[in-house]
Amino acid sequence: MAGECLFCRIAQGQIPSHKVHEDATTFAFLDIRPLTKGHTLVIPKSHVLKFEDLTPKDAEALFQAVHTLLPRICQAVGAPASTVAINNGRESGQEVPHVHVHIVPRTKGDPGGPIHALFATRPLLQEREFPALAEQIRTSAAKPAR
Ligand code: AMP
Ligand code: ZN
Repeated sequence: MAGECLFCRIAQGQIPSHKVHEDATTFAFLDIRPLTKGHTLVIPKSHVLKFEDLTPKDAEALFQAVHTLLPRICQAVGAPASTVAINNGRESGQEVPHVHVHIVPRTKGDPGGPIHALFATRPLLQEREFPALAEQIRTSAAKPAR
């Protein structure tokens, strides 16, 4: 619930944070347990669990803020690269139930790997399964929030 949500309370200034950006619809602050120096979380001010639950306008504003912040964060910590990621739903590892984009500055030799390293194994899909799967996605009636 929004009233009890940690990130809603941070965006409202009720819980202290190291703010790096704020505009009408988004807020960004340093992660308290950073994976690398400069690890930043970018959130919508509206209380929304998953990315697809955002309105198109809020989704656009969220990624606009990510776009603005990336070079600033990387310059501040001298990182030539970054990993940008969302744990989108509990099954994916999301712990705080308010959508947030992780910006993790990356440098050569840091202890992290690529997103592909999240999975120790991969499903063995037959080549003939790909066209049907792509068609299923193209014709799906599932919709994000409006
Ligand atoms: P996730 O697992 O994607 O939900 O990530 C939640 C992130 O929030 C973690 O990286 C935490 O370190 C971070 N976090 C939790 N509490 C705070 C806080 N009070 N201020 C800043 N970051 C926090
Ligand atoms: Zn919230």
